[in-house]
Amino acid sequence: MEAPTHLWHNGRIKAWADATVHVGAHALHYGSSVFEGVRVYATPDGPRYFRLEEHTERLFHSARVYDLSMPYDAATINRACREVIVANGLTSAYVRPIVFRSGFTFSLAPSLDTAVDVAVIALPWGAYHGADAIEKGVDVCVSSWNRAAPNTYPSGAKAGGNYLNSQLIAREAVNGGYAEGIALGTDGLLSEGAGENLFVVRKGVIHTPPAASSILCGITRDTVLTLARERGYDVVEQSLPREMLYFADEVFMTGTAAEVTAVRSVDRKPVGSGHPGPITRQLQQDFFGLFDGRTEDRWGWLTPVEEV
Ligand code: PMP
Repeated sequence: MEAPTHLWHNGRIKAWADATVHVGAHALHYGSSVFEGVRVYATPDGPRYFRLEEHTERLFHSARVYDLSMPYDAATINRACREVIVANGLTSAYVRPIVFRSGFTFSLAPSLDTAVDVAVIALPWGAYHGADAIEKGVDVCVSSWNRAAPNTYPSGAKAGGNYLNSQLIAREAVNGGYAEGIALGTDGLLSEGAGENLFVVRKGVIHTPPAASSILCGITRDTVLTLARERGYDVVEQSLPREMLYFADEVFMTGTAAEVTAVRSVDRKPVGSGHPGPITRQLQQDFFGLFDGRTEDRWGWLTPVEEV
């Protein structure tokens, strides 16, 4: 991954090389960071942020869970998101705001005035699972690693430390020749991918694990649920056993990075025909249609970068 030339750090645009952090930073030792991933799409009307307000809101909610005192308000974070796009001359991008305890202390209950840094990084990033993934689907496995149990590391907060679990899931999958791993909760029921929410289609009904299944309730998940209901599909948020993956007609995953990616096999067993199915295709078309004008944005999800 090539580093961008500029980023936003603690109130201003800086050259990449100038945004440094001390090795004593609390976040480095204890994972005390929260972050977001949000995309800018090049639409026929110009670059548009996708659901930036909701991403910024989730960033603040995540910070609240860990008592990270946000040094900036939401409007400033959003403005930083605009500035970083302009500074790097980008028309489409993956944008990563991050908030972390940068001050030095070994305390596990650091005082609330311990320094907190905020940075926003933006870079061009195409399909997360590679150019073919959206078209053909990906091969995944069920991970031997579970998602964190409820009331341990809260999955609903997008904290850096949670991604140790995601790294175990993703590494194991890649080492085994798969694109991604799908994890079960500690109850043995389906949870989510290392960085994506999970959908299973059977007999025309779209199923996805509920908020209480150790998932990050994705903004793309919500987008797809909205688009699916709009199309008149039956959509059910309910707990799902692992075997649903093996007799599903279609499986797909959603995320800001992964967008809407079909799953063509699970544990080397083909899903349905082994090709992306019709409902996945329809929802992909509706999702990507938001950015090329084929799907009307009736929800106000797109914001011109210059108006952020
Ligand atoms: N689950 C996890 C663990 C993730 O990291 C992500 C990516 N942020 C998602 C789900 C999908 O969330 P969103 O659609 O908001 O990007």
